Amino acid sequence: MLFLTVTAHPDDEILGFGASASVLTRKGHEVINLILSGQVEARRHKPSQTELESDSASAQFIVGAEPAILGPFPNIKFNTVPHLDLVQFIEKRIDEIRPDYIFTHHPYDLNNDHYHTSKACQAAARLYQRKPIKPIKGLYFMEIPSSTDWAFPVDGQKFTPNTYIEVGEEGVMAKLQALAAYKGVMRDFPHPRSEEVIKSYAAIRGAEAGLKYAEAFQVAYNILEF
Ligand SMILES: [Zn+2]
Repeated sequence: MLFLTVTAHPDDEILGFGASASVLTRKGHEVINLILSGQVEARRHKPSQTELESDSASAQFIVGAEPAILGPFPNIKFNTVPHLDLVQFIEKRIDEIRPDYIFTHHPYDLNNDHYHTSKACQAAARLYQRKPIKPIKGLYFMEIPSSTDWAFPVDGQKFTPNTYIEVGEEGVMAKLQALAAYKGVMRDFPHPRSEEVIKSYAAIRGAEAGLKYAEAFQVAYNILEF
């Protein structure tokens, strides 16, 4: 199966799907990460462009993903980009890649780029209804520690985990290693992007489903095949 993640920033793909990517690729599936803002501008650590690209390449390698596709959209400024530009950019990649499953941000994440990514990805995921290509089997929202958990559920809308991928201790370790490849991303406990909390998330999400460590997702659309 071919799994495509569509995220806003370099590191989101690992925070939300890194352990799953590691497990899936070890089982022979393919994972491609499309990162809409591949630019260094406004990143806290402020690496050079080459450094960011090399960090991203190391992270993909660690979890067994293909080289990431880095988009041109401005970090923390997706609200200034026409919705259609984001949709068409994602659609073009869906058309080229033809994924079976797509994982993207939850639309109620605190980070505004995540919101715009999610909305554009939801529109783009419908490409099969406008063009004769194979339909996707599923679209899911991922959980990003320090963004999904920081959203205020003011209108009752929040991430509701209902889909799980078991990742085991090995998957969690690969995720931590890939996150460490991105310089300046990990923080000290009790920040949500600390080793302790990332591990705890995996333990708690696993426990919710009776699994040994898991990443959790919220299903937006799903075709059941038997
Ligand atoms: Zn992000």
